[in-house]
Amino acid sequence: MVAVIPALLIAALQQATAVTIGSASARPGQSVSGFIEVPAGSDAATRIPISIVRGIQAGPTLALIAGTHGSEVAPIVALQRARTLIDPTVLRGTVLIVHVANMPSFLGRTIYYSPIDGKNLNRVYPGKADGTVSERIAYAITNQIIERADYLVDMHAGDGNESLRPYSYWSPLGLNHRVDSLAREMALAWGSDHIVVDTVRPRDVRASVYTQNTAQLRGKPSITTETGYLGIPAEDMVQRNVDGVLRLLRYLRMVPGEAQLTQQPLFFERTEVLRSPATGLWHARVERGQSVQKGSVIGVLTDFFGNTQAEIRAPFGGIMLYVVATPAMTQGEPMGMIGEPRLER
Ligand SMILES: [Zn+2]
Repeated sequence: MVAVIPALLIAALQQATAVTIGSASARPGQSVSGFIEVPAGSDAATRIPISIVRGIQAGPTLALIAGTHGSEVAPIVALQRARTLIDPTVLRGTVLIVHVANMPSFLGRTIYYSPIDGKNLNRVYPGKADGTVSERIAYAITNQIIERADYLVDMHAGDGNESLRPYSYWSPLGLNHRVDSLAREMALAWGSDHIVVDTVRPRDVRASVYTQNTAQLRGKPSITTETGYLGIPAEDMVQRNVDGVLRLLRYLRMVPGEAQLTQQPLFFERTEVLRSPATGLWHARVERGQSVQKGSVIGVLTDFFGNTQAEIRAPFGGIMLYVVATPAMTQGEPMGMIGEPRLER
């Protein structure tokens, strides 16, 4: 019995200690916002707006990251709402919110790549302290957010050019059964009814490449979600992101309420990003979420004068998870993504 008292005291002291990230510092029961400063290096400095919502009761830490790609805005708007909806006096544990991971891309309104270094933030993890700005952002998020988290959601949407039907990535790597199976449940708890199974992400923690994979390789169950399209905060897509956050908080028992897992989702183990054979104008012939037969026309690629360069056909039957819906097209860039649905995984 004597040994129990110091342990309780230590727990109480730890609980009372502030969690400090960048300029934000939160004690139990507080919701605080601030910035992680990313100092200038070989290129310009930037900053990452974050919030720490800290429950009165101890519990797990969930990291929610939006704006890895700056034109994927429905999750960014959703996390503004989620911040005010998560009540720290009711919350168990801590929610770390990254409101806009990639500020240069957000303010610069770019797709895929940073306007400063031309890199894709979701390809440079775990980042470098002395790298270019995307690498320094990744380094800051790895060390200040991911390292503190127990669970993580990297919240994407269709980029500024992508008309996307909501889906989530589940990435079982076969390295840690607990992490793989909890991540699968997180995808169902989020509300995903279309789940892309990606088993080929890197297994080297020093070259984890993706945000989600950086957490997963550190033993933290995590998913990447895709909810929203074409660079706009469509209300139903914003709400779907908010609902996903609240559903996940219930599943993790961080807020009261019964957890709900999606029943009978479709799993996509076979997917393909269709890449453009040439530069020119892209004329999509399908909608997001549309079912297509093998060989049916997905779109037509013309030259700048309107002459057909290529007719793009479905390589197999499936569902268009997203289709690029704006005309500018560079050789090698995506035109859409098709997935073959299965009922079981
Ligand atoms: Zn993205």
